[in-house]
Amino acid sequence: MEQAWRSHRCGELRAEHAGHAVRLAGWVHRRRDHGGLIFLDLRDVSGLVQVVCHPDAAPAAAAVAAGVRHEFVLHVRGEVALRREGTANAELPTGAVEVVATVIEVLNPAETPPFPVNQETPVDELTRLRYRYLDLRRQRMAANLRLRHRVVAFIRAFLDARDFVEIETPVLNLATPEGARDYLVPSRVHPGQFYALPQSPQQWKQLLMVAGFERYFQIARCYRDEDLRADRQPEFTQLDLEMSFTTEEEILALIEELYSALAAAVAPQFALPAPFHRMTYREALERFGTDKPDLRYGLEIADVSALVAGSAFAVFREAVAGGGRVRGIAVPGGAETPRRGLDALTALAREAGAQGLVTAALGGSGPLATLTIEDVRSPAARFVTAAEFAAVAEACGAARGDLLLLVAGPDAVTSRALDALRRHVAEERGLADPQRLEFAFVTEFPMLEWDEQEARWSAVHHLFTAPYEADIARIDDDPAAVRSHAYDIVCNGQEIGSGSIRIHRPELLLRVLARLGMGEAEARAKFGHMLEAFTFGAPPHGGIAPGIDRTVALFAGERDIREVIAFPKTKSASDPMTGAPSAVSARQLAEAHIAVVAPEAAAEGAARRTL
Ligand code: ASP
Repeated sequence: MEQAWRSHRCGELRAEHAGHAVRLAGWVHRRRDHGGLIFLDLRDVSGLVQVVCHPDAAPAAAAVAAGVRHEFVLHVRGEVALRREGTANAELPTGAVEVVATVIEVLNPAETPPFPVNQETPVDELTRLRYRYLDLRRQRMAANLRLRHRVVAFIRAFLDARDFVEIETPVLNLATPEGARDYLVPSRVHPGQFYALPQSPQQWKQLLMVAGFERYFQIARCYRDEDLRADRQPEFTQLDLEMSFTTEEEILALIEELYSALAAAVAPQFALPAPFHRMTYREALERFGTDKPDLRYGLEIADVSALVAGSAFAVFREAVAGGGRVRGIAVPGGAETPRRGLDALTALAREAGAQGLVTAALGGSGPLATLTIEDVRSPAARFVTAAEFAAVAEACGAARGDLLLLVAGPDAVTSRALDALRRHVAEERGLADPQRLEFAFVTEFPMLEWDEQEARWSAVHHLFTAPYEADIARIDDDPAAVRSHAYDIVCNGQEIGSGSIRIHRPELLLRVLARLGMGEAEARAKFGHMLEAFTFGAPPHGGIAPGIDRTVALFAGERDIREVIAFPKTKSASDPMTGAPSAVSARQLAEAHIAVVAPEAAAEGAARRTL
């Protein structure tokens, strides 16, 4: 369609346009001066085209072209011509042609950008965020945001076709005591009172089920005031979804279908085998030491406790006697790992909380049954017999030439350490194929866990998660054994989202809240609206909320979710471009009934109180 500014977009021009008069508008991507003859690559949203300026034929245009620099915004008039024999550029969709300029107008000049826009050179993150609008001009980031758009558009169409209704829910909410830390918003009209930004629309979507919508979704922004780890943002986006009269199985089937279709539509370069893997939480921890296993490689954990319970090696023997276990993995072909590498593995295991790491490099040749102690390079070789090593190796699926990594202790410790080792070894040896996406559903999460810090039971997922019917009786006397209908979708070692079947009966919710240490009065004060709603015919319901940022990052092949968010925050939750967060005026504070206690003053106050 012809527009006022342009007759074509730069990236559209082909040989068939030769001889056409065109008007283009865009940015100077590159400029080359061949002794008076000036070539500009003009870029717009559709791509690039070469513009050539002949000083003899169009002296005014050539004079303007001589003065432009990268990222100037131009309006160009000219005629499309086939490039001369031998100068066509097969790499470029417009490479058969060039636009011979007759008039060039500078619509806006540009300062020299703080980093090259026309190349993907590495730039430090602070600079990228400070000039994010220039960072987003670069090809990779622009492609990531377009991919994000396609993901969200696909999800909307997919769910719309299945009778889901997209409903917006409030951003100003009641603060809740459970879960992560809330972002608070002071109320001007209710002095001293605060709203909380939603950590997720969990309660709203359940209320929409009570309201009878049966199928809801929302591309929902969520806010959690947590310490930011590498892959966290204070605000992030979820595909929030809820269904009535459903089952865990139906929700998982829907998500499997959605992700399979989505991957095929937006990222067909990935092999995405459906059906997804399925495993229980227990199985995931047993085999991989984590509830978000990377299934692109083996390195499965074996329990060798029974094989070393009677060992002369006290570390193994005492761990088993003390109720712990000895577990390990085999690194295929790892026997040659140098000392430095072994030290790094040990340091990693320690960092993850293990007392130490027992390494055993299996050398020599022949079947494991013929293993001698001389064949084994291990700090424990003085205490562990060759027969014990052979049995352990077999249990771990190891052969000669492999390296055994063994950790002893309580399950929480061995799992954490072996998870860290598995990921490290896979990374170091390139075992995790970046072209594969291995999705899995992890199910049967425990409902409750003991919170050491708070000295009380807390919900593993959230407090609306339904227990297994058969386990309800154990809520009071054996809370740790209660299984819940909570599930995660994980991929390549990352959690993509969680969900659950919910509690929809008020008496069960009260009972769970009591288990979490909330008496009825407190429960009614904090969750009275939910308890009440559930008395008006709440249907059985459940849902899930996969992260959009993580999903897009996976399909974009990016590790960090900031690479798929237009304007993310830094790791200290600030925005180097706008300067947020910032101090506000005394008047704004007064209106919000806020008095700020500077950190020094707060510390002083605390010190005074303790005197
Ligand atoms: N609201 C939950 C979360 O944000 C997801 C769910 O249970 O649907 O993790």
